[in-house]
Amino acid sequence: MASNTGKIEKLVRKLLIELGEDPDREGLVKTPHRVAAALEFLTSGSRIDPVTVINDAIFTQKTNSMVIVKNIEVYSLCEHHMLPFFGRCHIGYVPSGRVFGLSKLARLVDMYARRLQLQERLTEQISQAVMKAIDATGVGVMIEARHLCMMMRGVEKQNSVMVTSSVLGTFRESIATREEFLALIGNRST
Ligand SMILES: [Zn+2]
Repeated sequence: MASNTGKIEKLVRKLLIELGEDPDREGLVKTPHRVAAALEFLTSGSRIDPVTVINDAIFTQKTNSMVIVKNIEVYSLCEHHMLPFFGRCHIGYVPSGRVFGLSKLARLVDMYARRLQLQERLTEQISQAVMKAIDATGVGVMIEARHLCMMMRGVEKQNSVMVTSSVLGTFRESIATREEFLALIGNRST
């Protein structure tokens, strides 16, 4: 699964030529190298094992009150255009004896965001990973994001925000739990 920087650089150089550019002009000389490094970083999540990201940051805690972490920044690449989509992710869960270290949820989001993605799938993957990692009673994830593939190409209005959510366990079964989640994250989806 490891990517090959040298090969990607050559491909980017070819791409520049196909786009009618001169890859040897001053501003572009280092571009293939920069693009290769950026793409490798932005897709690095697909080459990381989620278990290693999560394992050392789960703590035992006797609580079954809802935990909310909101406004986690999300930067990802849409798999249809390889253009960025970005926004915020809100995660709520009801623990059953184990909780996440705070920074780990952000790392989990990064790991799933740093790959070619669909916002819907990203939302699902995060909720399922949280559910599985701590055997939660329920999980809710909401992502609000803007997609440059729509904004820059004028396909949608400039300010449109795509909202996706994924609810599991009690968040799916109980309207009260779901409403508590939406109230706590401020329900800015409207
Ligand atoms: Zn797209």
